[in-house]
Amino acid sequence: MIFCRFCGTKEIQFRKSGKFGCTHCAQIFDFPKPNQKTKIPENLIQTLESFVKENSETLTLLSLRTRITRNLKSSLFPFYDPLMEKSKQLLVENRMDGSIYPKESEKDLDSIEHGERKSGFYLGSEDHIRWESISAGWGRDPLDARQIPKEKLTLFRFFFQKNHWATLPGLGFISSCPTNLGRGRRDSILLGLPPGIFLEFFSILQTLVKFGIEFAPSTDHRFRNIGKDRVLVVKISWKNSILVQKRQFYKILSLLGSY
Ligand SMILES: [Zn+2]
Repeated sequence: MIFCRFCGTKEIQFRKSGKFGCTHCAQIFDFPKPNQKTKIPENLIQTLESFVKENSETLTLLSLRTRITRNLKSSLFPFYDPLMEKSKQLLVENRMDGSIYPKESEKDLDSIEHGERKSGFYLGSEDHIRWESISAGWGRDPLDARQIPKEKLTLFRFFFQKNHWATLPGLGFISSCPTNLGRGRRDSILLGLPPGIFLEFFSILQTLVKFGIEFAPSTDHRFRNIGKDRVLVVKISWKNSILVQKRQFYKILSLLGSY
């Protein structure tokens, strides 16, 4: 019987829950490794770019969301122990405790108004610490452009201090769910598009799936009225994508300057 001798998780438990019990589980159990190296070929990017250009009048960017998750180093993962006090302590030591969300506010992020931006930490969910930012309305707002760099720098410094976090050589940051490990970051956008063009759009996105880009009609709000128009709300998300291709993506969707 295969089991993790550090945290005691048995293989059958891992298969059932889909969650690691500790860092070492990622070395013991077999799971599909995320692809971190493949770059999206230029011709696929160009197809997407021309589609977005041709339809720029009818595509609406509704929101952009970034999630960064980390588990504490040398600890049991939240499957066994949420370690909320220890996580809070770490945020206090790094002067970031001012932006911890109370657990019950989790749904607030979905009720964001156009032009708003919310960000903060959640403790004790699937991973010990999750930072989440959501913006609705962005682009040429000069205030955003001034505010983001300093905040981003402090935050990224914190998230890339490896001595805080569960990591493994060759795998990167170890999250509770095997599909998120690597960079521990997932970005997603909600895009509204008229029903007439979504088949073509989906067939383009389909070519990008193997590069870590996922898409689906948003389950929360499949259709929404924007002005007089009824649009299909599509969620596109990507994780573990390499920086340069994410930049390409952001550029195509006019999201440069955002997270
Ligand atoms: Zn383990």
